Amino acid sequence: MDYQAVLEEVAAHARPFVRQGRVADYIPALERVPADRFGIAVADIHGEVYGVGDWEVPFSVQSISKAFSLALVMGQSHDGHDDIWRRVGREPSGTPFNSLVQLEAEDGIPRNPFINAGALVVTDRLQTLTGDASTSMLHFLREESGNPDLAFDQAVADSEAEHGDRNAALAHFMASFGNLENPVPSVIEHYFWQCSIEMSCRDLAVAGGFLARHGLRADGSRLLEAREAKRINAVMLTCGTYDAAGEFAYRVGLPAKSGVGGGIIAVIPGRCTLCVWSPGLDARGNSVAGAAALDHFTTLTGWSVF
Ligand code: GLN
Repeated sequence: MDYQAVLEEVAAHARPFVRQGRVADYIPALERVPADRFGIAVADIHGEVYGVGDWEVPFSVQSISKAFSLALVMGQSHDGHDDIWRRVGREPSGTPFNSLVQLEAEDGIPRNPFINAGALVVTDRLQTLTGDASTSMLHFLREESGNPDLAFDQAVADSEAEHGDRNAALAHFMASFGNLENPVPSVIEHYFWQCSIEMSCRDLAVAGGFLARHGLRADGSRLLEAREAKRINAVMLTCGTYDAAGEFAYRVGLPAKSGVGGGIIAVIPGRCTLCVWSPGLDARGNSVAGAAALDHFTTLTGWSVF
């Protein structure tokens, strides 16, 4: 596969969609990102990386971090020996990523680890396992991406904390059901920090390589059993793009995780990991040009799972 040529064609296809949608403004610090940005990168399972456009420009990973926190929790506790799946489900929610509505009827157990409520539970577990959830994630991402300069964006973390009443509400509500192990302020702080990490398409495609390598890290050591990597990919396919997961499966047909910074990672197990970024979001919080690019990528290559 001539990845470079494919990416160039994908970028040309996505170009008219760039600037469509709206840059997230509910976290005010995200609003300053220019809407005309677009980048896409592919990292194959051998570590070769290809990219087009703004593929080396860092952006706020936001909810893409949820795929990594889940992997770190599963990697430290190997499923079957951990109660994480008693505390969070594996079904699509069909509701917005920051919705409260299902939590009361479902006794404080979030539907899946990729809506905010579920991600807060996963971060809470990572905090218990590591003593410092967000720093352990930052270190992991630096190692996996090979980029020692990755850092938190303090302005984004502060901005989200200042406007974080809804996430705080989710966390307090779950705590009332006994579904948090750590104090609410510490859980939401680590969650805001992990969301604030700045990475480029290159960094994210490389760092997400273990999902395409059936759980093997960049240095060949094992983060996850193959069956665990399979499960994370499955949850990404069914829940990674929130209440648009059905539409994503229909259009793209790959495990994917999006964030309101405008990034989306997608995995082709056994082949490569992709990351696309463009800040304009649709009503469900997914990048408009990013979705168009992934749609075209799987159409061109025939590499959707369907
Ligand atoms: N930090 C964001 C929030 O909690 C992440 C949401 C997202 O990227 N979908 O609202």
